[in-house]
Amino acid sequence: MSEQFSFQTRLLHNNQKFDKETGAVSVPIQHASTFHQFDFDQFGTFDYGRSGNPTRAALEETIAELEGGVQGFAFASGMAAISTAFMLLSKGDHVVVTTDVYGGTFRFVTKVLSRLGIEYTFVDMTNLDDVEAGIQENTKVIYVETPSNPTMKITNLKEVVALAKKYECLTFVDNTFMTPALQRPIELGVDVVLHSATKFISGHSDVIAGLAVVKDEELAEQLAFLQNSFGSVLGVQDCWLVLRGLKTLHVRMEHSSKAAYELALWLKEQSEVERVYYPGLEGHPGYDIQQEQSDGFGAVLSFELKDKDAVRQFVNNVKVPVFAVSLGAVESILSYPATMSHAAMPGEERQQRGITDGLLRLSVGLESVEDIKKDFSNAFESLAVTK
Ligand SMILES: *Cc1c(COP(=O)(O)O)cnc(C)c1O
Repeated sequence: MSEQFSFQTRLLHNNQKFDKETGAVSVPIQHASTFHQFDFDQFGTFDYGRSGNPTRAALEETIAELEGGVQGFAFASGMAAISTAFMLLSKGDHVVVTTDVYGGTFRFVTKVLSRLGIEYTFVDMTNLDDVEAGIQENTKVIYVETPSNPTMKITNLKEVVALAKKYECLTFVDNTFMTPALQRPIELGVDVVLHSATKFISGHSDVIAGLAVVKDEELAEQLAFLQNSFGSVLGVQDCWLVLRGLKTLHVRMEHSSKAAYELALWLKEQSEVERVYYPGLEGHPGYDIQQEQSDGFGAVLSFELKDKDAVRQFVNNVKVPVFAVSLGAVESILSYPATMSHAAMPGEERQQRGITDGLLRLSVGLESVEDIKKDFSNAFESLAVTK
């Protein structure tokens, strides 16, 4: 029924709009760890909290509906969602992973999966020939992040899906940067969508959470089994926080994406800035693909200053954004990938991926763009003074 509404409206008017029993206009937080069974022979929908919980089910149903998949899963963190999804693989399998993958995912693939006899190849997913060349006989998954972190490379999802179909492997997409408000990979044929719901989906820097959504029933059954076996489920208070954050997802993404675009244009004109990475800039190599496969360019951009000293000086002088790990919040977050998100990556690998010592990532929040520009201008002036 809700299908007839736009995404914006469906964030509010969905199955969780009010509690069916009481009419409460907020999903009840169900703390119970176990559920009384009314019938000896026929157990109810819920039996034990790890296996299923009504508050978690509300979130899982909501994200599945928004991503256009058959089932959703809520995990204790983005990494819990990602690593549980990787457990769909078995010893002897191989994965093709995008080179500038999230640092934690890089660590899991290279340090954990490898110990379990699961092989990997990193490829630049902007080049489809490279993706195809990376596929082996035992490849089971192509793992994509688009836009990638932090250099904002765009992967053509439809074309990767076509390759995956040709070689009979699955596609996983980390959709954290876009959220279903801007990009719905399942509609493009992707099998598993993953999220750090810590970021834009919850949006307020107050919860660590992960989500997964799958395309078909068979995967749903397998992932449900793994979620219950691993047990890294999201607690009910946190499920509620994510559900609340979701209600404003559309307005937050709309404001922050527009602000990010304005800032990207402005940063490009600043003499202290050597380079700006934002897929909404017309010169960006992924601009056309992004325009075709998404409803926007997102709220994250990266920019490069001369060197680490310039970065230190800049960071010490900005006042509006918080300087922190993470992204996707109401407050703008400035981070330094070299020692934050990509600290787990060896220096050489980092440099190769363009994550230089001068690179900063900015996740734009809900502040006035003019205030951010003023703040950054002041910080740039301080750079000039010390030169
Ligand atoms: C933060 C992040 C993750 C990891 O999520 P956690 O909630 O921190 O475990 C994975 N992928 C991307 C793109 C992220 O930004």
